[in-house]
Amino acid sequence: MSKHPPQQIDAIVVGAGFAGMYMLHKLRGQGLSVRVIEAGDGVGGTWFWNRYPGARVDIHSMEYAFSFDPALEREWRWSERYAPQAELLAYANHVADRYDLRRDIQFSTRVASAHYDESAARWEVAADTGESWSARWCIMATGCLSTPKDLDFAGMEDFTGTIYKTFAWPHEGVDFTGQRVAVIGTGSSAIQSIPVIAAQAAQLTVYQRTPNYSVPAWNGPISAETQADWDANRATYRATARQQGIAANVDAGEALALETPLAEVTAEFERRWAIGGFTVATGFADTGVDLAANKIAADFVGGKIRGIVSDAATAEKLVPKSYPFATKRLCVDTGYYATFNRPNVALVDLMQTSITALTPAGIATTAGETPFDAIVFATGFDAMTGTLSRIDIRGRGGVPLAEKWAHGPLTYLGLMVAGFPNLFLITGPGSPSVLTNMIMSIEQHVEFIADAIAWLGERQHTTIEASAEAEAGWVAHVAEIADTTLYPLANSWYMGANVPGKPRVFLPYVGGFPAYVEACEDVVARDYAGFVAG
Ligand code: NAP
Repeated sequence: MSKHPPQQIDAIVVGAGFAGMYMLHKLRGQGLSVRVIEAGDGVGGTWFWNRYPGARVDIHSMEYAFSFDPALEREWRWSERYAPQAELLAYANHVADRYDLRRDIQFSTRVASAHYDESAARWEVAADTGESWSARWCIMATGCLSTPKDLDFAGMEDFTGTIYKTFAWPHEGVDFTGQRVAVIGTGSSAIQSIPVIAAQAAQLTVYQRTPNYSVPAWNGPISAETQADWDANRATYRATARQQGIAANVDAGEALALETPLAEVTAEFERRWAIGGFTVATGFADTGVDLAANKIAADFVGGKIRGIVSDAATAEKLVPKSYPFATKRLCVDTGYYATFNRPNVALVDLMQTSITALTPAGIATTAGETPFDAIVFATGFDAMTGTLSRIDIRGRGGVPLAEKWAHGPLTYLGLMVAGFPNLFLITGPGSPSVLTNMIMSIEQHVEFIADAIAWLGERQHTTIEASAEAEAGWVAHVAEIADTTLYPLANSWYMGANVPGKPRVFLPYVGGFPAYVEACEDVVARDYAGFVAG
């Protein structure tokens, strides 16, 4: 319990990543008093925490930047096609400085609870520091991938070497020179870090449970011509990106692979492979919805892996076979598969031998023990719901959000939850979020929320809440669309399948960013249909 009376403010925002920073800027601009509470001691969210070697964005940097202020866009220059973590963090700090955000952000403070006081129509929010706030609006800008999965390996405390976690990397960096290093996991974080660690360590052993599909980034410096072209055509690129949903260059094809001669399909995949990034997955409209079409893409990428990795047995282990192409998050890499051609790199297939425990010296599997100086966990996140369910959030009647979401998240548009008035989620479950360029989705959500608050103010309303019917309708729609795709066939974090006991529900909205924006705009045009204002 708080020792002091709660601080009275208009809006409390949880998290100072890109979502929380822009939310603060917008609401402050509307004259509201706002406090942002952030667990870390700096801004940047994802890019504050994930400092592992090789960490970089995998949407083009120029698009992975705010668009709300043309002056900000003009003055910031990215050095590489896919900016490294340090530069993304520098950008976040630049935004914080430029808009004087820090004076309303409280760092090193973790929100523990948020309870709705029905009689006052306010949120009572308490932090682990003992401080508390009372706010009309409570906005969760807590990120989609911000709470790591629990590490459940036996003997974690027995290991006498050093344990590193990609999601909480030491700020001073790590020098692996001369060390025997293990990496556990082969998701995006591992796939980015493995080539960099391999180049430094004496020996690197990768423990792979499920192989991932990865496509080349072809990262490099941004040329003067590219920069000039972007500067001249920024508005067009931004508009294209909003239509494509992910990024301007994904160039979503409308042709069906199954109705196109195989030679043409292969040529198109080759063309896209040469461009790199997510464009490899978006060439044909049936790749994500038809198993036979998907197999063409899977065979193409499988062929690339076999072509890059010299040892046939290792290549075979690296080729995914247990789920359709791109139904687990596609990875974008720099030299990942080629790393397995290095003499100092070994691959352990956890489908053939499983980890039994960490030992004082290293890792024990059913095949024996291997000594290590360092073990890197790149084991992923309790995605999209993990952070929210760890905060004690209670709505009307004291109902805990975790209880309401026991069988999977229920939201209207991924933005609000019935029974939780004035609580907004930025890029929450049921919104496109992780299937899009996150910055673009963040801007759209922040602007929706800010507009809704302004609209309510103009009408002297003090509350807004999703109706139970609108929520049920949206949840059904999100599930229905997911079921038209191949996504549910993979044991992915999109499905909650990576966390033992988590309900198997497809978490983001897969109908596409344009359809989602249209749905939001339609709701607004109909005076916030599906929401109840009071
Ligand atoms: P992830 O994709 O969930 O990968 C975790 C890896 O750890 C998987 O290979 C998983 O295997 C393995 N693993 C988990 N528990 C394990 C266990 N008990 N034993 C053995 N292996 C285990 O997590 P991530 O790599 O941190 O990436 C999460 C998401 O963050 C990405 O999908 C992406 O959306 C985002 N991300 C983005 C970027 C970027 O934009 N540049 C970079 C990094 C991350 P299974 O597959 O068998 O579960």
